[in-house]
Amino acid sequence: MQALTLSETLAYKTDSALPVLADGEALIKLRLAGICATDLELVKGYAGFSGIIGHEFVGNVVAVADDKHQNWLNQRVVGSINIGCTVCDTCRNDGPEHCLKRAVLGIRGKNGAFADYFSLPVRNLYAVPDAVADQEAVFTEPLAAALRIVHQIKNLPIANIAVVGPGRLGMLIAKVLSLAGYTVTVLGRSPASLALPRQWQLDTGLSTDIADNSFDCVVDACGQASGFSLALRIVKPRGSLLLKSTFAANEVLDLSKVVIHEINIVGSRCGPFDEALALLAQHSLPLASLIDGHYPLKDGLAAFEHAAKTGVRKILLSP
Ligand SMILES: [Zn+2]
Ligand SMILES: [Zn+2]
Repeated sequence: MQALTLSETLAYKTDSALPVLADGEALIKLRLAGICATDLELVKGYAGFSGIIGHEFVGNVVAVADDKHQNWLNQRVVGSINIGCTVCDTCRNDGPEHCLKRAVLGIRGKNGAFADYFSLPVRNLYAVPDAVADQEAVFTEPLAAALRIVHQIKNLPIANIAVVGPGRLGMLIAKVLSLAGYTVTVLGRSPASLALPRQWQLDTGLSTDIADNSFDCVVDACGQASGFSLALRIVKPRGSLLLKSTFAANEVLDLSKVVIHEINIVGSRCGPFDEALALLAQHSLPLASLIDGHYPLKDGLAAFEHAAKTGVRKILLSP
């Protein structure tokens, strides 16, 4: 089968083996997948993964390992990406997201979705409502990740929020925070990067124009080490900093403000798929404007080059 495989460099292969199903798993045929910043970072060496990459997908279940899961056959599905050990305290009390033995689809110990076929445990799957098109459903994983922030800041005294980075994830974060009732400003480094946030009726600003200590909460979604320093500069004393970027670089950080002004630093990763699908079914997000390209898997390397360009948001892949 076709697959985009990472081992030192990314390669398109046509002779990748079909996944062998473990107990409880489903075989999924890819319909549509999305490239995200994590995929671009994996190619640069983040997480040291080798194998088939890709974790944002919509597909159809074409086989199941257990007879009791026959009801999933032919369903159009999306899937959460963490596969826990199911037996540790974290898995039993909290879920698979922070299991220390977890595999993560296309990121850690588990082949991913940039392929004709891939597998996931049935417990990770969510049926996609008919009202949600593939081009919307492919955003379920990043939208869930954006919704995670709403849960994390729910009980914090926050009126205004800045989202640093008007990229593929930053846009979704800004929109869900604004739908949740917060006053949101999207910050970018160039006027061109702020055109789409303005089209989405979001307040915008150039990051260099923002005074120190301006926001109760700052979400760093810019995908680069420099975003953290900016976020820390513009957050108010005793404010909150939500970190949403994973990247390969390591930068020396001055954390004195965190101590002196008691900044609350919160890491934020995966979120609720059921809520994301419900939101997608309302069609309240202008997602089509995030899509900057659509490639077949065989042109996957060109798709990655396109996705890595400045100002490019979502690039899609299909078989
Ligand atoms: Zn992602
Ligand atoms: Zn576990």
